[in-house]
Amino acid sequence: MHLDIASLLFAMTVCMVTMAVALPAVMGEVNAPARCAQAGVVLQGIAWALLLASGLVASGSIADRALSTLAMAGIAGGLALNAAAFDLWCGRTPQIRIPVLIAVVMPIGYALGFSSYPFRVGWANGLLTLQMAFLVASLWRKPAVAVGRWRWLLVISLLAQMTVTLWRGALGAFFTESYPTFLAPHPVNYAFAIIANATTVLSLMAVLLAHRDDAARELERFATIDSLTGVLNRRAWMSLAGTEMAMSVRYGHPVAVLMIDLDHFKQINDTQGHDAGDRALAFIARALQAAVRPGDLVGRYGGEEFCVLMTHADNAAASAFDVRMRTYLTEVAERELGFPLAYSAGIAMRTSPDDTLAAMLKRADATLYSAKEQGRARTLDAQGLRLRSA
Ligand code: GH3
Ligand code: MG
Ligand code: MG
Repeated sequence: MHLDIASLLFAMTVCMVTMAVALPAVMGEVNAPARCAQAGVVLQGIAWALLLASGLVASGSIADRALSTLAMAGIAGGLALNAAAFDLWCGRTPQIRIPVLIAVVMPIGYALGFSSYPFRVGWANGLLTLQMAFLVASLWRKPAVAVGRWRWLLVISLLAQMTVTLWRGALGAFFTESYPTFLAPHPVNYAFAIIANATTVLSLMAVLLAHRDDAARELERFATIDSLTGVLNRRAWMSLAGTEMAMSVRYGHPVAVLMIDLDHFKQINDTQGHDAGDRALAFIARALQAAVRPGDLVGRYGGEEFCVLMTHADNAAASAFDVRMRTYLTEVAERELGFPLAYSAGIAMRTSPDDTLAAMLKRADATLYSAKEQGRARTLDAQGLRLRSA
């Protein structure tokens, strides 16, 4: 079997360009990380097409310099976009200053030092290796969300590419006579071309798997989280609260349920506008999340009603929570929203092992109703007594 480098690289470029065209077409409307990955593939595809085109013009000519430099910019830019996609898929804010810096500095240095073959090969391959090392390090870090094994496909791909890229860079820079061009029939070029073909396929698999993971996570989020306020929706809250109730019966710890309803909310909508009402709902949800302890559950029961399940909580704990909430609303609501916000609440405690979530919610709702009747802006405990904080 006869293998030649140009055909191998040509086949790899055809694959990349096909991916660059097909991925956006089959993936349709996608989120930010998938868009970054798609743009990364497009840049890499264009870059490799340009690099092959540079082999067709006179070596060392202006056209060669321009095509090769643009190709370097495309490869490094594509890697920087991939870095952003990986961070987003791993649930992190993209931290891509270093890959972006390399994507800017590398092509500039490459264009300026183009006439020195050892310099440009060493410089470009050295910096690309560094960029890939950065990507490997970021993929290696524990992701902030549960992700599948796709990241190890990318780590393997990148480590293989780093090895041959560094090898090429070192040969080009320090052993220039034994390594004349990237199309020369040299072992490093065979290794590079074969690895490039294999890793193109691996990367495509990884991108699709990462996107599938991400889409599944997003669907799960849509199904459990209230989109306006970011807290659990009623169905998810009921399900998690039911589990928590069962645990509290098994281990014998107290549980409290609070029903909270914003006061005169209709009036806020009428006077401040519906958007201001929406902002108030998001605000109160954030305040609730901040005031509860880890493990407690905050949900939007419906409209402007929220429910909180507090585990290991007696009346004193529920009362302390209420103090935190009211203090925060007094200090921050008007400043942040431009109008004051008040709520009424009712508390129910689990009374016996036979007590149910539905019964507790009913009692909390009845107590909440009493709080409204008594003049609002207050919280009544399980005995119907007004909390000191209110
Ligand atoms: P009360 O003190 O007795 O609770 O009075 P209220 O005005 O808060 O009570 P009511 O139940 O009459 O009004 C609730 C309002 O909440 C009516 C509805 O338009 C509004 N609302 C429900 N969901 C949303 C929402 O998602 N966004 C906004 N802006 N308003 C909402
Ligand atoms: Mg209401
Ligand atoms: Mg209300």
